[in-house]
Amino acid sequence: TPSKEGKMFIRALFDYDPKEDKAIPCKEAGLSFRRGDILQVMSQDDATWWQAKHEGDANPRAGLIPSKHFQERRLALRRPEILVQPLKVSNRKSSGFRRSFRLSRKDKKTNKSMYECKKSDQYDTADVPTYEEVTPYRRQTNEKYRLGVLVGPVGVGLNELKRKLLISDTQHYGVTVPHTTRARRSQESDGVEYIFISKHLFETDVQNNKFIEYGEYKNNYYGTSIDSIRSVLAKNKVCLLDVQPHTVKHLRTLEFKPYVIFIKPPSIERLRETRKNAKIISSRDDQGAVKPFTEEDFQEMIKSAQIMESQYGHLFDKIIINDDLTEAFNELKTTFDKLETETHWIPVSWLH
Ligand code: 5GP
Repeated sequence: TPSKEGKMFIRALFDYDPKEDKAIPCKEAGLSFRRGDILQVMSQDDATWWQAKHEGDANPRAGLIPSKHFQERRLALRRPEILVQPLKVSNRKSSGFRRSFRLSRKDKKTNKSMYECKKSDQYDTADVPTYEEVTPYRRQTNEKYRLGVLVGPVGVGLNELKRKLLISDTQHYGVTVPHTTRARRSQESDGVEYIFISKHLFETDVQNNKFIEYGEYKNNYYGTSIDSIRSVLAKNKVCLLDVQPHTVKHLRTLEFKPYVIFIKPPSIERLRETRKNAKIISSRDDQGAVKPFTEEDFQEMIKSAQIMESQYGHLFDKIIINDDLTEAFNELKTTFDKLETETHWIPVSWLH
């Protein structure tokens, strides 16, 4: 293979502390890093230990990091369950919307091959997050904006944050108009609240993979189409989208260049303090009734956030803790402002 020495940048998808690594030949020579860090690979001469440094670090001395292949192999052997256990996050969306986010054909295939891998005792190491090769990306002035994806557990305040950001600058931000098969209410107009379509057309569109996500509620379909994202971007706006974390991988393309933000709940003590008088849209009943938070809601929010972070943490570009709403909003706004000017790192896999 042609030498890529010193030219390859990778995003670490796991935390690494050489002091904790029994396999490293010399702990002092190791380079510690956190998930999300950008590293510059200086040498891949050794199959097991690469030499790397933190991107932008002026110190020319590189440290040892486990090679991708080595890390994948030992992770797969140590934690085979991460490969064979499909996601079990509740599919509850706020406002009582739930169930039946069907796996795409691709998902099904991946899951199937994972199971088959287990049987034959050969793990599909590509599913073990280790490193991702990245390249610097800066939006050109005349280039379309990108997608801002928000993920987080029910009740964390994701919709509130999205709404605040949208109204803070409606020239700059936009949101998608969902499709529905339910009848239009008198005060609604087509293309504003929803795009109203027939069940037959909805089903055809599902078949043709037109939706990034969809589900059923009270005998009607609701969904967000890929084209509805495109039409926001075509207006040269940042498209704000909240989705279940498992859909993120389908959005990770050069066209959308998603910047993924995880909205995380604070500690349970802080939840009790800050959400004392707040309300959650109940998803336990189909009425979508608005009720005060219960202790159970808090616990479920924390648990769901933990599952999301452990399963999808490697896809998050940024984590914002929604303790105080105003502070979380300011952090969100600053994050999007920075996207306009700073260099970001996108996976090279998006380029081909
Ligand atoms: P309604 O019919 O009262 O406007 O909405 C019914 C439910 O559908 C609400 O709980 C709303 O949050 C949900 N919903 C609206 N649009 C979408 C969508 O695009 N995708 C999903 N999954 N749910 C939606």
